[in-house]
Amino acid sequence: MITPDLPTAISRLRDLIEETQAIVPFTGAGISTECGIPDFRSPGGIWTKYQPIPFDAFMTDREMRDESWRRRFAMEDQFGGAKPGRGHRAIASLYRAGKVPGLITQNIDNLHQASGVAAKDIVELHGNTTYATCLDCGERYELPWVRKKFEAAGNRAPDCDCGGYIKTATVSFGQAMPAEAMERADELARNCSLFLAIGSSLVVWPAAGFPLTAKRAGAILVIINRETTDFDDLADLVVREDIGDVLGPFIAH
Ligand SMILES: [Zn+2]
Repeated sequence: MITPDLPTAISRLRDLIEETQAIVPFTGAGISTECGIPDFRSPGGIWTKYQPIPFDAFMTDREMRDESWRRRFAMEDQFGGAKPGRGHRAIASLYRAGKVPGLITQNIDNLHQASGVAAKDIVELHGNTTYATCLDCGERYELPWVRKKFEAAGNRAPDCDCGGYIKTATVSFGQAMPAEAMERADELARNCSLFLAIGSSLVVWPAAGFPLTAKRAGAILVIINRETTDFDDLADLVVREDIGDVLGPFIAH
């Protein structure tokens, strides 16, 4: 069913949330747009202006590593101050109420953590851009440290003490999906009773397979997204309203 208006959407969602014990939210870029972070894949998004830097180019070309850090710091100046939106805060409220065993996100912006969900309960399918790691030894580096080194070296990407390359903890195009995250997401999807796909166009595979997994395992599937998705026909409830407007009433004060 596609909800005809916002009050109906909120009321249907409230019934489903009250009836269920294990909600797994699956979030995409749409939940963060009200926080000022654009959907990079959308028309006019960053990736239509800059070609993404594939993983093998990062690994083989020093210029590409410098360029990727140059872009990252430019983004930091634009979006670094972003705060969780109503969608994030509503999910955090359900989490504190013990209804969310874990959540799956395609976002790399750290806003679920910032809203109060423990990092251990967040599965980040595409990693996290708010810190960096060495690709060889796994050492974690904070962005301000990387930036200081980068600028001191005349806009050159610093390397780890072990000689490895330092990269934001994100999954780049052409980089393998993290196996552990995929497994945990699959387990969450298979064991929930209500799967809430929020702000994702559900086109990026394999991430988009999780709503299907949840549905096949018997969960109720709800899709909240401004645009249509390929899974709307499969969903038990489809909400095409503003995410903040729909989820705002679920923020516990
Ligand atoms: Zn290292």
